[in-house]
Amino acid sequence: MSSVFEELFQQARQSVPLIHASELFSQLSQKNPEVQLIDLREANEYHRGKIAGAIMLPRSRLEIRIEALVKPEDTLVLYCSGEVRSILAAQVLHDMGFHNVSALRGGLTQWVAQGYPCEPCLSEQYLERFEKHVKLPEVGIQGQALLKNARVLIVGLGGLGSPVALYLAAAGIGELGLMDADVVHLSNLPRQILHSTPSLNLPKTWSGAYRLQTLCSDLHLKVFNERLHSGNAAPLIENFDVVVDASDNLETREIINTACVSTHTPWVYGSVSGFEGQVTLLNAPNGPCYRCLWPNPPENLTTSGPLNTAAGIVGLLQANEVLKVLLAHGELLSGRLLLWNSSESRLREILFSKKADCPACGLGT
Ligand SMILES: [Zn+2]
Repeated sequence: MSSVFEELFQQARQSVPLIHASELFSQLSQKNPEVQLIDLREANEYHRGKIAGAIMLPRSRLEIRIEALVKPEDTLVLYCSGEVRSILAAQVLHDMGFHNVSALRGGLTQWVAQGYPCEPCLSEQYLERFEKHVKLPEVGIQGQALLKNARVLIVGLGGLGSPVALYLAAAGIGELGLMDADVVHLSNLPRQILHSTPSLNLPKTWSGAYRLQTLCSDLHLKVFNERLHSGNAAPLIENFDVVVDASDNLETREIINTACVSTHTPWVYGSVSGFEGQVTLLNAPNGPCYRCLWPNPPENLTTSGPLNTAAGIVGLLQANEVLKVLLAHGELLSGRLLLWNSSESRLREILFSKKADCPACGLGT
């Protein structure tokens, strides 16, 4: 016996006209398309982008807002992720007096599968949240859309990874990969501000994901509760636009470098010890890599814990560099090693360059 829902849906499906993606694309390609698209998805589905020109009207607000946005005589095409919501919503709009309403067959999923274009979608709420960024000429709507579409992997959720993750999430980065195999210890809390007392003994990835999700609910998170190693690094890193090294060991940096060189991915290096820290951008296009900077692996820095503000400052410099890379703005740190000294409150800079005989990225490799 079919359910009430199935009966309702089948009735709606028989009466609501469906439009194929190819036909919709052809109509939208006309000089003055008469079609008004309505995107019915909820805000947490916007990371896939939207069809250009669509009004973002979540299904949950359809009946309340529709009359303020379009006229009953307008030609409307509704779409959602698949097609169920749009078919049922078209029936509702018909009952409200909108008679030229159809639904996109297969929804955005089919649209994308058939290779038709999407643009980043920034809801009213999103634009309000990032109002100050959008007003910066160096960012604007286009720049904010770049950040929303960006995917950044953070390796290590400790003293450096904490400020990096918090600031990148708050800046509107669309997808963050969080990688750490450790759990939260009491002695972490003074500088690892992503975590808090209730998170003690929980995996740092869980603790971090929870904190970041409360900061920005439409942030997409990928959690990797494991260590980076030579076997998983390249397949993982090729899914990200930028990698942030927030680890605390040389072995991980070597692995990040090798994987970033092979996948042509830029990465932001950072390290901190005591009152001092270092930051640079590595493997930017035509730029030097980690082994160009240190042909022979350097000695491990002392294991003395950093001053908490030193870790925070270095992490913020790393997050700042990620934003510059993604926005293609400013003078990147490629070939410039920044040295921060918290005792002197002073930044110094050492220049370095790509080496033709680099064992990792040189011509012979
Ligand atoms: Zn190199």
